[in-house]
Amino acid sequence: MSDCRFTAAKTVEEAVASLAEARGEAHIIAGGVALAILMNEGLLQPSWLIDVSRVTELNCIEVGDDGAIRIGAAVTHSEVAASTDIAASCPMLTEMATEIACGRVMNRGTIGGNICLADPQGDPPVAMLALDATFRVAGPSATRDVPARSFFEDLYTTALAEDELLQEVIIAAPTAGCGTAFGKYAARKAMDYSSTISAAVSLERDPGDGSIADIGIGLGGCGVIPIWPEMTETLLRGRRLNDETFAVMRDVLVQEIEPIGDSLYSADYKRHVASVILKRTLKIAEQRSVAGKGGGS
Ligand SMILES: Cc1cc2nc3c(=O)[nH]c(=O)nc-3n(C[C@H](O)[C@H](O)[C@H](O)COP(=O)(O)OP(=O)(O)OC[C@H]3O[C@@H](n4cnc5c(N)ncnc54)[C@H](O)[C@@H]3O)c2cc1C
Repeated sequence: MSDCRFTAAKTVEEAVASLAEARGEAHIIAGGVALAILMNEGLLQPSWLIDVSRVTELNCIEVGDDGAIRIGAAVTHSEVAASTDIAASCPMLTEMATEIACGRVMNRGTIGGNICLADPQGDPPVAMLALDATFRVAGPSATRDVPARSFFEDLYTTALAEDELLQEVIIAAPTAGCGTAFGKYAARKAMDYSSTISAAVSLERDPGDGSIADIGIGLGGCGVIPIWPEMTETLLRGRRLNDETFAVMRDVLVQEIEPIGDSLYSADYKRHVASVILKRTLKIAEQRSVAGKGGGS
């Protein structure tokens, strides 16, 4: 086994300086859930690991008085699931985090590690797409903000440069009358992270006629990256949710997504499941939109 240098960064600046020094040879490690598997399988042999799990700035959850949410990249899925402030502002995030595997994965895995892994089946990216989140990225000379909707570029590939790390995710306060929901189909045991389909919805209704005034959707397991289905969103805007809308939506959605068939499900079956999960999730988000504030209390 080759030697591997290890740096336990204490600040974002220290982590970024190490990344710059390593010139593409280092890997950030947060919870290590994904990295440990890749290393055990021999798919990755890092020469330098930069641990960011104890960087204070990356471990904060902040919910402003207006409901805007900032989550540090090293916050674990368990911490997201347990945050009463997040649940009050955006219940979809609580549902999403609670759906992740099991306690072992939730207690170690981080929201930032999950997003930066860019697995097409990852749950946090799906929620971030629906919520039109912003990713604050730290580099050697400055930070920059990247919209979640342009962060996922290809299979396991993101917009991060080799000397950048994800610092935090920023989610704007839900508008009054906005409802959010997360739905997932996973015909598997919690520890078998194989074939899943997920949908996240953020929906705002027109108080006058009950039609959809604005909508954000994210889909998981429906392509090589987490999917932001723009055509489906456009179709739904201005419509009321009823059987006719769901039928038209299905036709557009199955054209827009390109799921990959696997040993469990064919691509066609995944298309079908995606339309069913999205329909269910839309209905829940619509019900919550009556309560307002993302459906929280
Ligand atoms: C059995 C099992 C079941 C699972 N089930 C689910 C599930 O149901 N839903 C789901 O969404 N996920 C699931 N996962 C995936 C799991 O949630 C992720 O692997 C985990 O969240 C990754 O976070 P981490 O902190 O451990 O990342 P790490 O393993 O530490 O890092 C992952 C990648 O992200 C990079 N990275 C980490 N942090 C940063 C940062 N701040 N900036 C830049 N790059 C960074 C690393 O360099 C690496 O490339 C499952 C995993 C397992 C093993």
